[in-house]
Amino acid sequence: MKYIGAHVSAAGGVENAPINAKNIGASAFALFTKNQRQWFAKPLTDENISKFKEHCKEYDLSADYILPHNSYLTNLGHPEKEQLEKSRKAFLDEMQRAEQLGLKLMNFHPGSHLRKISEEECLDRIAESINITLDKTESVVAVIENTAGQGSNLGYVFWHLGYIIDKIEDKSRVGVCLDTCHTFTAGYDLLENYDGVFDEFEKEVGFQYLKGIHLNDSKKELGSRVDRHDSIGKGLLGPEFFEKFMNDSRFNNMPIILETPDDTLWAKEIEWLKSIQKKK
Ligand SMILES: [Zn+2]
Ligand SMILES: [Zn+2]
Repeated sequence: MKYIGAHVSAAGGVENAPINAKNIGASAFALFTKNQRQWFAKPLTDENISKFKEHCKEYDLSADYILPHNSYLTNLGHPEKEQLEKSRKAFLDEMQRAEQLGLKLMNFHPGSHLRKISEEECLDRIAESINITLDKTESVVAVIENTAGQGSNLGYVFWHLGYIIDKIEDKSRVGVCLDTCHTFTAGYDLLENYDGVFDEFEKEVGFQYLKGIHLNDSKKELGSRVDRHDSIGKGLLGPEFFEKFMNDSRFNNMPIILETPDDTLWAKEIEWLKSIQKKK
């Protein structure tokens, strides 16, 4: 079964996110557990936590299909020691917040070398950051998102993801999230070479590590390495890609999250995606 939702607002408290998910007919959702543009935030209160859990239960939203996203500020592969430490501290806080909410996954962008260290050195630092954080937490899985490869962001080729996973000590607590817009603009041709792209993913990473999807259309062309999401079916991926995706069982039983730009369309997008599934 496909579990579809969107990255919903948590304004006014994390406990509002499941309400916002329910209002668009979602069976999955993503959220920021704190302001994504701030390094540190005040801790979650017992009330935040208990209401969040209560609302999830009430609206039948299982932690298996909730994919929190970490802040945009952290760079777990930062070339400079002080900034790297700050990022690690913030990431630990995010992972702990997820655990407090009873969540199982934490999605994050791997990091950037800022043209000061090599790709491999940066990937090594990212892996080390993950290992350190997993040591200090109990159960949450670190879910690395593939990127479009803007600037010096790593994670735009599948081998980067495989390289990091290879260095993680506890492989049961690492996974990946594929963003369809990022995959396409990073240069993977999901239109002309759908099977080939996912064969390469299987070879370089492995579907057993796939823990979630960011389902987005793309405003920018194949290989542009620019990250601009579009509404489902309205961008350069177009309806045919989404039809294939929705009928591909490799994407069953994981959170499928829309990060499409027009939130007034989310309910319709979810409805349309469900409608294009072929009845078996
Ligand atoms: Zn994404
Ligand atoms: Zn993006």
